[in-house]
Amino acid sequence: MNTFHCTACQALVFFENTKCRHCGRTLAFSPARMAMVAVSPADDGSWTPVDERAPTDEVYRLCANYLDNGVCNWAIPLTHAEPLCQACGLTHTIPNQGEPASHEAWMKLETAKRRVVYSILSLELPLFNKLENPKDGLEFQFLSDSVTVNGDQSRVLTGHDNGVITINVAEADDVYREAQRQLQREPYRALLGHFRHEVGHYYWDRLIAGSDKLDEFRRVFGDERLDYQSALKLHYEQGAPANWDETFISAYASTHPWEDWAECWAHVMHMVDAIETAHALGLSVKPQRRDEPALSIPAQPSVARVEDFDSLVSEWSVLTYVLNNLTRGLGLADAYPFVLSTPVIEKLRFVCGAMT
Ligand SMILES: [Zn+2]
Ligand SMILES: [Zn+2]
Ligand SMILES: [Zn+2]
Repeated sequence: MNTFHCTACQALVFFENTKCRHCGRTLAFSPARMAMVAVSPADDGSWTPVDERAPTDEVYRLCANYLDNGVCNWAIPLTHAEPLCQACGLTHTIPNQGEPASHEAWMKLETAKRRVVYSILSLELPLFNKLENPKDGLEFQFLSDSVTVNGDQSRVLTGHDNGVITINVAEADDVYREAQRQLQREPYRALLGHFRHEVGHYYWDRLIAGSDKLDEFRRVFGDERLDYQSALKLHYEQGAPANWDETFISAYASTHPWEDWAECWAHVMHMVDAIETAHALGLSVKPQRRDEPALSIPAQPSVARVEDFDSLVSEWSVLTYVLNNLTRGLGLADAYPFVLSTPVIEKLRFVCGAMT
């Protein structure tokens, strides 16, 4: 995503910050500005921006989840009738706050969700919750496994169903998620990755189902009318085909064309977010080959760039080399443990086309 500066003192700040570490001001993200803003409280409970460089008469409220629960950092216009911001308003069910560590889990879930909502807003994709649009809206349920009265385990499956995205709260627990990653032999498993993947299913319904893109989708990804439940069962019984990496971005993507799409959608969201950051900061890197000129990712106004797909892919290949070498230098696993084959690049191209 973009990089942000405190509007009061101009120091660099993160999207997740609630206070500027440099000047101590309260910070909030304004979706109207798509920027972090230093804000100052007024006696009537409203908040005004502190911004001498771009004075404004905007007045905000802070999201109720910011003030009351400490799980959000968004500002909303004073005129907005709802107490929750656009991101929090998408959550239908929060983790059961009676359970240990559930507040921390809720905060991690909302933090990941806000980053996805930022991408959706910057890509100008349709976004409404189920209260605004019960039929086509989007909502999230954060649910935990439970034990029934009979003593049976009731497992919550992370997934998407007709605009309702369910995330198993345990995925916010680093130990659980890492254990699952190793169990499933996945090179990468992240809370943010789950959100991006499931949102991909939602946007398949919005952008591809019943549209003139469906024939092209089937040419690139295969026929999604293949029985989904049988495909899933087959995947968990037999695993992915041995040569899955020649045509799929991940082993799981080989399950069914819908999963392939969702995996590719998540990857495009990873790419767009990281490339946007690289552009916002300005980055110049040595060439891929010694005999090529250096690749420069110039500092430029930050936008989610999906229209020029070829540039996106060539910048991504250099940027992931940088990312992986930096994380190796810190003694950590590769930040991006994937290789993009030619058929996968064509799938990513299709996803980018659908986003524009
Ligand atoms: Zn500051
Ligand atoms: Zn909020
Ligand atoms: Zn899926």
